Amino acid sequence: MNILIVEDSATLRHAMCQYIRNAGHNPIVANNGEEALQLFDASRVDMIVMDVEMPGLDGFETTRLIREWLEKDDLWLPIIFVTGKNEEDDLRKGIDVGGDDYLIKPVSETILLAKIRAMERIITMRNELKRLNQSLIELSERDSLTRLFNRRTFDERAENAWKQAARNHEALAILIMDIDHFKLYNDCYGHVAGDECIVKVADAITQSLGRPGDIVARYGGEEFIVVLTNTREDGAYHVAERIRQNVAALNIRHRASPTSTHITVSIGGAVINHTAGTHLRDQIHAADKALYASKQAGRNRVTVKLFSPKVRILVADDTGRLARSIDSKLKQYFALLQARSGQETLSLASRNRPDVIVMNGNLKGDDAVDTIKRLREDSNTAQIPILTVCQDVNYWQSLELEIDGCFADAESPVELIDKLNRLLF
Ligand SMILES: [Mg+2]
Repeated sequence: MNILIVEDSATLRHAMCQYIRNAGHNPIVANNGEEALQLFDASRVDMIVMDVEMPGLDGFETTRLIREWLEKDDLWLPIIFVTGKNEEDDLRKGIDVGGDDYLIKPVSETILLAKIRAMERIITMRNELKRLNQSLIELSERDSLTRLFNRRTFDERAENAWKQAARNHEALAILIMDIDHFKLYNDCYGHVAGDECIVKVADAITQSLGRPGDIVARYGGEEFIVVLTNTREDGAYHVAERIRQNVAALNIRHRASPTSTHITVSIGGAVINHTAGTHLRDQIHAADKALYASKQAGRNRVTVKLFSPKVRILVADDTGRLARSIDSKLKQYFALLQARSGQETLSLASRNRPDVIVMNGNLKGDDAVDTIKRLREDSNTAQIPILTVCQDVNYWQSLELEIDGCFADAESPVELIDKLNRLLF
């Protein structure tokens, strides 16, 4: 162990160094509190023997600072105080500021080394506990048969990957795969062989993935799911095809399979180029549909589809002109909902939660201003961005409504479409 000795008396320092060396440990020496802090920062220290009475920073203050540092990183190490004071109150204070034991000078070699051994025991127990805790966390995250992530962990990690893709405007691919005719395999060879087969397939999938950010999990009995971050269609297809080939290459005999002589997998993939306007579960659903297509097409194959989410825009306009204009420019990305009155806008917005509302400022029969205020009051719709199209932009801006943009009415609202693009992608 590296034991930091903090002691201003040269004689005592020398003696304690010698004791510690005799016990087979490595002493690091500081003459005062300031030096102790520097050395502590620069070297690996396992335990500290700290004098209380020192000029400048005393032992209590130095200990308090060291404990603060350690706590930030959730770390701990034993600190033994050495003091000439022998009052009960000093001992209490020493323990309060974070000391673990207390030695009265003059320090005998036997007692110092006995205390060090006792502290060493606590360090060992603490490390053991930490290791156990870590393996418990690991166990709770993983499927017991395949050691892949379990479904719960997958949900958490996939959600994080999804959020990151949204932040970085990156593509994200999801592959779902299923062992072909696995029920027949189980019926034919028994459950033990079935489990062995699942483990081998899981390993083949893991080995087909190359990057540390990839997430692979057991999704159901014989179903697996993979998230590939920052991966587009061709990359996803490439990985899926590698998985399919590696599973086939396991060459696990399957005499009950109507489609192959050995174990194969069907794979479905959904790739999303931007996450706006959709949810992780929609993409998983799309991958599931692609998997179904692979099965329908005869199994042992890969289907990867681009999943392009439709951003939902609610257009509040009784003329129909706004919707036509947006639709013609952004049809491939947007799904339009149309409301022809303020009342209809409120109910559609609350029910469908569109990604954005575009409102004609001259909405007939209802007051557009009143509708906007009511949208903002309803907790279901309060956060939805609102853009208005009107004849007098200055007038609308002077109303100081909580809107996200106001655009002049024109045949082709180029600015509005540009704003929609910026708002949603
Ligand atoms: Mg001293």
